[in-house]
Amino acid sequence: MPPRSVAVVGGGLSGLTAAYRLAQSGARVTLLDPAPRLGGWTQTQTYPVSYDRDGVHHTGTVSLEFGPRSIRPRGGLGAPAMLQLIHDVGLADAIVPIPNNHPAAKHRYIYDPERGLSAAPTSPLALLDPRTPPAIRALLLAVAREPFRRAPPPTGDESVASFFERRFGPRAARTASAFVHGIYAADPAALSLRSAFGALYAAEQRAGSVVRGLFRTPVDEAEAAAWHALGEIGKEREGWNMYALRGGMGRLTHALEEGARALGVDVRRAAVLGLTPDQRARRVNVDTSYGPLRVDHVVAALPPRRLHRLLTEVRLPHLLANSSTTVGVVNVVLPLPASAVHPPGFGYLIPRGGPNPEGALGVVFDTTALPGTDPGELDVTKLTVMLGGPHWNSYGGREPAHDDELAPLALSHLARVFPHVTVPPILVVPRLNQECIPTYAPGHGDRLREIHQAIITGGWAGRLSVVGAGYGGVSVNDCVLGAEMVAAGLAGGQVTGLERWADWE
Ligand SMILES: Cc1cc2nc3c(=O)[nH]c(=O)nc-3n(C[C@H](O)[C@H](O)[C@H](O)COP(=O)(O)OP(=O)(O)OC[C@H]3O[C@@H](n4cnc5c(N)ncnc54)[C@H](O)[C@@H]3O)c2cc1C
Repeated sequence: MPPRSVAVVGGGLSGLTAAYRLAQSGARVTLLDPAPRLGGWTQTQTYPVSYDRDGVHHTGTVSLEFGPRSIRPRGGLGAPAMLQLIHDVGLADAIVPIPNNHPAAKHRYIYDPERGLSAAPTSPLALLDPRTPPAIRALLLAVAREPFRRAPPPTGDESVASFFERRFGPRAARTASAFVHGIYAADPAALSLRSAFGALYAAEQRAGSVVRGLFRTPVDEAEAAAWHALGEIGKEREGWNMYALRGGMGRLTHALEEGARALGVDVRRAAVLGLTPDQRARRVNVDTSYGPLRVDHVVAALPPRRLHRLLTEVRLPHLLANSSTTVGVVNVVLPLPASAVHPPGFGYLIPRGGPNPEGALGVVFDTTALPGTDPGELDVTKLTVMLGGPHWNSYGGREPAHDDELAPLALSHLARVFPHVTVPPILVVPRLNQECIPTYAPGHGDRLREIHQAIITGGWAGRLSVVGAGYGGVSVNDCVLGAEMVAAGLAGGQVTGLERWADWE
């Protein structure tokens, strides 16, 4: 029987999606989050700016992102789920598609501290181009040789670093670390290949070679069917490389919050302090900062480590197994057109190694990466400098104690990469996002299977579901998919949120 009352713990994108969908299916939902603003890591903020250029005074606003900003329109069931959700909350008109032929889709860069900025290859033909820099040439050669390499996978889950070294060699593995920094802000040696880059793992399993396996990637029938079910919406996105929302990602979490309230969700700015199943009454006691609550079911939409702290009586295994990385996000606004600052494109990522005293991970060229998303429409350049992650928890650097330490680091990095820019910024907003992205350590899939079993067979007897970036993928699409699956599953009975790992081996 579906639970009549549900407490959703955590009001980030995952919790808001779960609350919204559960309320649509008729459940009585209480959403709990102590933060003054819902949305979790989804954080868009607008700032006033003014500057003088060519004797003219300009004034207006810029909208800045401190968390997610771009969405993939393919790559698993989360992509159609996200697009459908955006339509359902009334944000279809806010979608800003970035088509495949847009400079942001075609030009992504790698910044090697020893060699400078170079275009990331978009085609193997870059091998024949004499302008291709040596590191990129080495990467392409390693890819070309990979099918002939005899280096079978080890038994058990492997780290991303070990995989790239085994299949492509150490030089290519170093370049590949840039992409790991860009998605997970993690040390590739600490990250599970199978959980973080499942498509590469599957390709090697399929064909004994990653490259051969990728050429033989079967059509994902379930994803194709989900796009087909979306009709015109599904067709439209075929030519998109990615998309964003005019006004920023914060509009999505705001619309979800409004939608959830309109459906009767009781939104409480309160922290959950403890969760205890009442085995005889088949309910759950929720201890909150505003008092006790009793519900039929709990959806935990907060990081696993935080959930661990709330389970004082009936614990679950492995919730402390993964660490999370801290990322410094510094938004910098320059009173110049983007063409005067950087080449057109999405931005650049930085591989491991070489002189990188600020511990920079990469820079997003927001003005050209996601044009049309800022309603402010000033002719300025917005850059987001991402710092830290493995530089602070693994490669030997020190994590800043406070936001204030981030701005000088970001500006010193930008001064080295763009020495021709001598005009000072008109706005610099730093933010230290503590423990914001989980690092799925090798063995993650096995552990999810065991958590799933423990929820069903232990004291929870199925009255708890888990969703969020800590489990089945860190992208916004993954978060939405996990929440949608739990809401749909609960309408038909009990669900842990980890059903996809029930048969993981
Ligand atoms: C800097 C950055 C950039 C990113 N860029 C992208 C991108 O461009 N594209 C993309 O696809 N993904 C991106 N991601 C990843 C994606 O944004 C996150 O994985 C996702 O937003 C996580 O959402 P969540 O709801 O699972 O968790 P969170 O956002 O962590 O939400 C958890 C919530 O739980 C609440 N909480 C904590 N403790 C308690 C308690 N005791 N009681 C009640 N509530 C509690 C918190 O206040 C918080 O609101 C980015 C992430 C970061 C950090």
